Amino acid sequence: MKKILLITLILLSNLFALQINQRSVKNGNTVLLEIKKQNISDVKLTFDKQNINFFKNPFKENTYYALLPISYYQKEKDYRVIVSYIKNGKKIFEGKSLKVIDGKYKSEVINVPKTKFKPKPSRIQRTKKEYAQAMKVYNSTSKEILWNEDFIYPLNTKITSNFGTKRVYNGKLKSYHSGTDFRAKNGTPIIASNSGIVKISQNRFYSGNSIVIDHGQGVYSCYFHLSKMNYKVGDIIKKGDILGLSGDTGRVTGPHLHFSFRIHGIQVDPLDAISLLNQLKS
Ligand SMILES: [Zn+2]
Repeated sequence: MKKILLITLILLSNLFALQINQRSVKNGNTVLLEIKKQNISDVKLTFDKQNINFFKNPFKENTYYALLPISYYQKEKDYRVIVSYIKNGKKIFEGKSLKVIDGKYKSEVINVPKTKFKPKPSRIQRTKKEYAQAMKVYNSTSKEILWNEDFIYPLNTKITSNFGTKRVYNGKLKSYHSGTDFRAKNGTPIIASNSGIVKISQNRFYSGNSIVIDHGQGVYSCYFHLSKMNYKVGDIIKKGDILGLSGDTGRVTGPHLHFSFRIHGIQVDPLDAISLLNQLKS
Protein backbone atom coordinates (compact mmCIF):
# COMPACT_ATOMS: atom_id res chain seq x y z
CA MET A 1 0.00 0.00 0.00
CA LYS A 2 2.76 2.36 1.03
CA LYS A 3 4.64 1.51 -2.15
CA ILE A 4 1.63 2.31 -4.36
CA LEU A 5 1.18 5.63 -2.60
CA LEU A 6 4.84 6.46 -3.07
CA ILE A 7 4.74 5.58 -6.79
CA THR A 8 1.59 7.67 -7.22
CA LEU A 9 3.26 10.59 -5.50
CA ILE A 10 6.35 10.31 -7.71
CA LEU A 11 4.16 10.16 -10.83
CA LEU A 12 2.14 13.15 -9.68
CA SER A 13 5.22 15.19 -8.86
CA ASN A 14 6.49 14.44 -12.36
CA LEU A 15 3.18 15.45 -13.91
CA PHE A 16 3.13 18.78 -12.14
CA ALA A 17 6.81 19.57 -12.55
CA LEU A 18 6.41 21.00 -16.03
CA GLN A 19 4.25 24.09 -16.36
CA ILE A 20 3.31 25.49 -19.71
CA ASN A 21 1.53 28.81 -19.60
CA GLN A 22 -0.83 28.00 -22.45
CA ARG A 23 -2.12 25.11 -24.54
CA SER A 24 -2.49 27.12 -27.71
CA VAL A 25 -0.41 29.95 -29.08
CA LYS A 26 -0.84 32.43 -31.90
CA ASN A 27 1.75 32.49 -34.64
CA GLY A 28 4.24 35.25 -33.79
CA ASN A 29 3.78 34.87 -30.02
CA THR A 30 5.91 33.14 -27.38
CA VAL A 31 5.29 30.30 -24.92
CA LEU A 32 6.77 30.22 -21.43
CA LEU A 33 7.62 26.84 -19.94
CA GLU A 34 8.71 26.35 -16.36
CA ILE A 35 9.89 23.28 -14.56
CA LYS A 36 10.31 23.13 -10.80
CA LYS A 37 12.54 20.31 -9.65
CA GLN A 38 15.54 19.74 -7.46
CA ASN A 39 18.81 18.21 -8.64
CA ILE A 40 18.15 18.11 -12.35
CA SER A 41 20.44 19.12 -15.17
CA ASP A 42 20.62 19.46 -18.94
CA VAL A 43 17.01 20.66 -19.23
CA LYS A 44 15.94 21.20 -22.82
CA LEU A 45 12.98 21.06 -25.15
CA THR A 46 12.31 20.09 -28.72
CA PHE A 47 9.59 21.70 -30.79
CA ASP A 48 9.23 21.05 -34.51
CA LYS A 49 12.92 20.07 -34.90
CA GLN A 50 14.02 23.12 -32.93
CA ASN A 51 16.06 22.59 -29.73
CA ILE A 52 15.94 25.13 -26.93
CA ASN A 53 17.76 25.04 -23.61
CA PHE A 54 16.12 25.86 -20.31
CA PHE A 55 17.85 28.32 -18.00
CA LYS A 56 17.74 28.55 -14.23
CA ASN A 57 15.13 31.10 -13.24
CA PRO A 58 17.10 33.39 -10.91
CA PHE A 59 13.89 34.70 -9.33
CA LYS A 60 12.47 31.33 -8.20
CA GLU A 61 14.04 28.46 -6.28
CA ASN A 62 14.75 25.18 -8.13
CA THR A 63 12.95 26.46 -11.20
CA TYR A 64 14.07 26.37 -14.82
CA TYR A 65 12.40 28.28 -17.63
CA ALA A 66 12.40 28.26 -21.41
CA LEU A 67 10.97 30.71 -23.88
CA LEU A 68 9.64 29.08 -27.01
CA PRO A 69 9.20 31.65 -29.79
CA ILE A 70 6.66 30.73 -32.46
CA SER A 71 7.54 32.01 -35.90
CA TYR A 72 4.98 34.12 -37.74
CA TYR A 73 5.12 31.52 -40.53
CA GLN A 74 4.69 28.48 -38.23
CA LYS A 75 2.03 26.13 -39.66
CA GLU A 76 -1.26 26.09 -37.75
CA LYS A 77 -1.67 22.61 -36.24
CA ASP A 78 -1.17 20.49 -33.12
CA TYR A 79 2.42 20.01 -32.03
CA ARG A 80 4.12 18.15 -29.22
CA VAL A 81 6.70 19.87 -27.05
CA ILE A 82 9.14 17.32 -25.62
CA VAL A 83 11.04 18.36 -22.53
CA SER A 84 13.98 16.32 -21.28
CA TYR A 85 16.29 16.50 -18.29
CA ILE A 86 18.71 14.39 -16.34
CA LYS A 87 17.89 13.29 -12.81
CA ASN A 88 19.97 10.78 -10.83
CA GLY A 89 21.85 9.89 -13.99
CA LYS A 90 18.67 9.05 -15.90
CA LYS A 91 17.26 10.96 -18.82
CA ILE A 92 13.59 11.78 -18.29
CA PHE A 93 11.16 12.91 -20.99
CA GLU A 94 7.90 14.78 -20.61
CA GLY A 95 5.58 15.81 -23.42
CA LYS A 96 2.96 18.52 -23.69
CA SER A 97 0.63 19.31 -26.55
CA LEU A 98 0.68 22.74 -28.07
CA LYS A 99 -1.60 24.03 -30.77
CA VAL A 100 -0.45 26.85 -33.02
CA ILE A 101 -3.42 28.98 -34.01
CA ASP A 102 -3.99 31.82 -36.45
CA GLY A 103 -3.10 35.17 -34.88
CA LYS A 104 -5.89 36.76 -36.95
CA TYR A 105 -3.69 39.72 -37.75
CA LYS A 106 -5.19 42.55 -39.75
CA SER A 107 -4.24 43.10 -43.36
CA GLU A 108 -2.85 46.21 -44.89
CA VAL A 109 -3.47 46.23 -48.61
CA ILE A 110 -0.89 48.02 -50.69
CA ASN A 111 -1.47 48.36 -54.39
CA VAL A 112 1.61 49.23 -56.31
CA PRO A 113 1.83 49.38 -60.06
CA LYS A 114 3.89 46.53 -61.50
CA THR A 115 7.31 47.78 -62.44
CA LYS A 116 10.49 46.16 -63.55
CA PHE A 117 12.39 48.19 -60.99
CA LYS A 118 15.35 46.35 -59.55
CA PRO A 119 17.44 47.67 -56.65
CA LYS A 120 21.05 48.54 -57.35
CA PRO A 121 23.57 45.72 -56.74
CA SER A 122 25.35 47.87 -54.14
CA ARG A 123 22.13 48.17 -52.16
CA ILE A 124 21.43 44.43 -52.39
CA GLN A 125 24.93 43.80 -51.11
CA ARG A 126 24.50 46.24 -48.24
CA THR A 127 21.14 44.90 -47.05
CA LYS A 128 22.34 41.28 -47.34
CA LYS A 129 25.40 42.08 -45.25
CA GLU A 130 23.36 43.94 -42.63
CA TYR A 131 20.89 41.08 -42.38
CA ALA A 132 23.67 38.51 -41.93
CA GLN A 133 25.39 40.64 -39.28
CA ALA A 134 22.15 41.06 -37.35
CA MET A 135 21.22 37.38 -37.54
CA LYS A 136 24.63 36.46 -36.16
CA VAL A 137 23.84 38.62 -33.13
CA TYR A 138 20.27 37.32 -32.70
CA ASN A 139 21.36 33.70 -32.96
CA SER A 140 23.99 33.99 -30.24
CA THR A 141 22.97 33.37 -26.65
CA SER A 142 24.52 35.02 -23.61
CA LYS A 143 24.41 32.44 -20.81
CA GLU A 144 23.62 34.91 -18.03
CA ILE A 145 20.39 36.81 -17.54
CA LEU A 146 21.28 40.51 -17.73
CA TRP A 147 18.22 42.07 -16.06
CA ASN A 148 16.43 41.81 -12.74
CA GLU A 149 13.47 44.19 -12.96
CA ASP A 150 10.32 44.08 -15.10
CA PHE A 151 10.52 45.02 -18.78
CA ILE A 152 8.84 48.31 -19.72
CA TYR A 153 7.71 49.95 -22.97
CA PRO A 154 10.31 52.21 -24.62
CA LEU A 155 7.86 55.10 -24.54
CA ASN A 156 4.25 55.68 -23.60
CA THR A 157 2.53 56.99 -26.69
CA LYS A 158 -0.18 55.72 -29.00
CA ILE A 159 0.59 52.51 -30.86
CA THR A 160 0.19 53.35 -34.52
CA SER A 161 0.82 49.87 -35.98
CA ASN A 162 0.65 46.52 -34.21
CA PHE A 163 2.94 43.56 -34.62
CA GLY A 164 1.83 41.08 -37.25
CA THR A 165 -0.14 43.31 -39.61
CA LYS A 166 -0.12 41.50 -42.94
CA ARG A 167 1.27 43.44 -45.84
CA VAL A 168 -0.59 42.42 -48.92
CA TYR A 169 0.81 43.77 -52.18
CA ASN A 170 -1.28 43.30 -55.28
CA GLY A 171 -3.25 40.54 -53.60
CA LYS A 172 -0.26 38.54 -52.32
CA LEU A 173 1.03 38.27 -48.73
CA LYS A 174 4.42 39.84 -49.13
CA SER A 175 5.51 40.43 -45.54
CA TYR A 176 4.24 41.28 -42.10
CA HIS A 177 4.93 44.05 -39.64
CA SER A 178 7.75 42.67 -37.49
CA GLY A 179 7.36 45.01 -34.52
CA THR A 180 5.16 47.51 -32.73
CA ASP A 181 5.18 51.13 -33.91
CA PHE A 182 4.85 53.89 -31.33
CA ARG A 183 3.94 57.44 -32.24
CA ALA A 184 7.02 59.64 -31.77
CA LYS A 185 7.86 62.92 -33.37
CA ASN A 186 11.48 63.57 -34.24
CA GLY A 187 13.72 63.85 -31.18
CA THR A 188 11.57 62.00 -28.62
CA PRO A 189 13.72 60.28 -25.94
CA ILE A 190 13.57 56.48 -26.25
CA ILE A 191 14.31 54.42 -23.17
CA ALA A 192 15.76 50.93 -22.77
CA SER A 193 13.02 48.39 -22.03
CA ASN A 194 15.41 46.67 -19.64
CA SER A 195 19.09 46.29 -18.75
CA GLY A 196 21.57 44.55 -21.00
CA ILE A 197 24.47 45.00 -23.38
CA VAL A 198 24.28 46.94 -26.66
CA LYS A 199 25.01 44.51 -29.52
CA ILE A 200 24.05 46.65 -32.55
CA SER A 201 24.41 50.44 -32.83
CA GLN A 202 24.56 51.24 -36.49
CA ASN A 203 22.88 52.91 -39.45
CA ARG A 204 21.19 50.25 -41.58
CA PHE A 205 19.38 50.56 -44.90
CA TYR A 206 15.88 49.49 -43.82
CA SER A 207 15.86 50.17 -40.10
CA GLY A 208 17.95 53.37 -40.17
CA ASN A 209 19.81 54.19 -36.98
CA SER A 210 19.30 51.02 -34.96
CA ILE A 211 20.04 49.96 -31.42
CA VAL A 212 19.73 46.35 -30.31
CA ILE A 213 20.06 45.32 -26.66
CA ASP A 214 21.01 41.82 -25.56
CA HIS A 215 19.12 41.00 -22.33
CA GLY A 216 20.78 37.60 -22.02
CA GLN A 217 19.59 34.02 -22.54
CA GLY A 218 18.50 34.63 -26.14
CA VAL A 219 16.35 37.75 -25.65
CA TYR A 220 16.95 40.92 -27.69
CA SER A 221 15.01 44.20 -27.91
CA CYS A 222 15.39 46.46 -30.95
CA TYR A 223 14.78 50.18 -31.48
CA PHE A 224 14.75 51.42 -35.08
CA HIS A 225 14.63 54.64 -37.17
CA LEU A 226 16.37 56.73 -34.47
CA SER A 227 17.68 60.23 -35.17
CA LYS A 228 20.35 59.85 -32.49
CA MET A 229 22.07 56.83 -30.91
CA ASN A 230 23.55 57.40 -27.44
CA TYR A 231 25.30 54.03 -27.03
CA LYS A 232 27.78 51.96 -28.96
CA VAL A 233 28.38 48.23 -29.26
CA GLY A 234 29.61 46.74 -25.99
CA ASP A 235 28.11 49.44 -23.77
CA ILE A 236 26.24 48.29 -20.70
CA ILE A 237 22.80 49.86 -20.59
CA LYS A 238 20.38 50.03 -17.69
CA LYS A 239 16.60 49.83 -17.77
CA GLY A 240 15.20 53.32 -18.36
CA ASP A 241 18.40 54.79 -19.80
CA ILE A 242 17.79 57.07 -22.78
CA LEU A 243 19.31 55.00 -25.59
CA GLY A 244 18.63 57.60 -28.26
CA LEU A 245 16.09 59.89 -29.88
CA SER A 246 13.33 58.88 -32.26
CA GLY A 247 13.48 59.84 -35.89
CA ASP A 248 12.70 58.84 -39.45
CA THR A 249 15.97 57.26 -40.61
CA GLY A 250 15.89 54.21 -42.88
CA ARG A 251 12.98 53.18 -45.09
CA VAL A 252 10.05 54.98 -43.47
CA THR A 253 7.36 57.41 -44.48
CA GLY A 254 7.53 59.46 -41.28
CA PRO A 255 9.06 59.61 -37.80
CA HIS A 256 8.03 56.90 -35.29
CA LEU A 257 9.64 54.23 -33.13
CA HIS A 258 9.67 50.69 -34.45
CA PHE A 259 10.14 48.46 -31.39
CA SER A 260 10.74 44.76 -31.88
CA PHE A 261 11.90 41.59 -30.12
CA ARG A 262 13.95 38.58 -31.13
CA ILE A 263 13.94 35.46 -29.00
CA HIS A 264 16.35 32.68 -29.99
CA GLY A 265 16.63 34.38 -33.37
CA ILE A 266 12.89 34.48 -34.03
CA GLN A 267 10.88 37.67 -34.41
CA VAL A 268 7.96 37.73 -31.97
CA ASP A 269 5.34 40.20 -30.75
CA PRO A 270 7.34 42.46 -28.39
CA LEU A 271 4.40 43.31 -26.13
CA ASP A 272 3.48 39.64 -25.69
CA ALA A 273 7.16 38.84 -24.98
CA ILE A 274 7.32 41.56 -22.32
CA SER A 275 4.28 40.25 -20.48
CA LEU A 276 5.76 36.72 -20.48
CA LEU A 277 9.22 37.81 -19.36
CA ASN A 278 7.66 39.73 -16.50
CA GLN A 279 5.96 36.49 -15.38
CA LEU A 280 9.35 35.01 -14.56
CA LYS A 281 9.36 37.05 -11.39
CA SER A 282 5.79 36.35 -10.29
ZN1 LIG B 1 7.36 49.30 -37.62
